[in-house]
Amino acid sequence: RTGRQIPYNHHGILKLCFEADEIAKWKKWIELRHSQGLKLEWLAIEALKKRYPQIESTQLVGAVYSPDDGQVDPVLLTQALVEAATLAGVTFHFDATVTGAKIAASSPQVCQSIETTRGEFPADEFIVAAGLGSMPFASALNQTITVNPVLGQALHLRLPETSRLPQPVVTGEDIHIVPLGETECWVGATVEFPDAAGEVVADEAQLQAVLDGAVAFCPMLSSAKILRQWSGLRPRPQGQAAPIIGYLEGYRNVLLATGHYRNGVLLAPATAGEICRMLGDR
Ligand SMILES: Cc1cc2nc3c(=O)[nH]c(=O)nc-3n(C[C@H](O)[C@H](O)[C@H](O)COP(=O)(O)OP(=O)(O)OC[C@H]3O[C@@H](n4cnc5c(N)ncnc54)[C@H](O)[C@@H]3O)c2cc1C
Repeated sequence: RTGRQIPYNHHGILKLCFEADEIAKWKKWIELRHSQGLKLEWLAIEALKKRYPQIESTQLVGAVYSPDDGQVDPVLLTQALVEAATLAGVTFHFDATVTGAKIAASSPQVCQSIETTRGEFPADEFIVAAGLGSMPFASALNQTITVNPVLGQALHLRLPETSRLPQPVVTGEDIHIVPLGETECWVGATVEFPDAAGEVVADEAQLQAVLDGAVAFCPMLSSAKILRQWSGLRPRPQGQAAPIIGYLEGYRNVLLATGHYRNGVLLAPATAGEICRMLGDR
């Protein structure tokens, strides 16, 4: 245990609904989730306005509130995991880039070691969690997996001192407002696909459209100051659903845990559990 405090928002998620003819669908979905033991609540427009007066749009018809959902700071969580793993005896080589692999001729094949900028590392088992870097690694093992970059941009905003942001994560029209206390939040994210040459460059206009969309249902954001903006490349598998979890074709000791596209943080515990199960089965 590290003793580190990892900020965790336990105020749930509020999903805004904008289509009147979808209300029945959402209510049916809530019923299904209730039967699975999950607490979800339908907030009709009056209840929504009363509980979250900061949310307003003439297009809104209601919202689904999920009290048991939460939101964790992914950077601090990752740092804590690295520290906990180190305490448990794991050695990290952050400054080593994987450049190739050595293969033993057998059937199924076996990867003997990886070559890196810091030398060669032999191992019994290899887990590939390299996002877009999983493609060249698979090539080094004479296999093909295709993972395309989908760029995402997001903003960190600060509102005036007297502001009171809604405390659940608010999501509407695929735009997400993640509160960090009452006067700061993250807003994101763009979903920008590569061009025919496979290149994707951050488009300022798309980020502005995300901010405008957030202001449209949370008008208080119009007075916010941008503290920071950032972008990242999400690894999206081509020709198969995300994520890619399982043995690399033809190999009995190379496990893929990659291609999580838009949900790598959310799915991290499930992926880790599945990879542990697969290793345990051996
Ligand atoms: C703006 C934005 C918002 C997002 N919001 C969410 C969210 O709310 N919830 C959610 O679940 N997901 C979210 N995502 C998606 C999430 O970030 C990704 O799904 C996740 O990062 C994928 O994790 P990964 O470890 O598979 O790949 P990556 O995060 O790409 O990590 C791969 C790692 O492998 C390393 N690597 C690659 N090649 C090599 C090599 N040859 N040698 C050594 N190291 C190598 C890279 O340096 C990198 O550190 C968001 C993404 C963006 C961009």
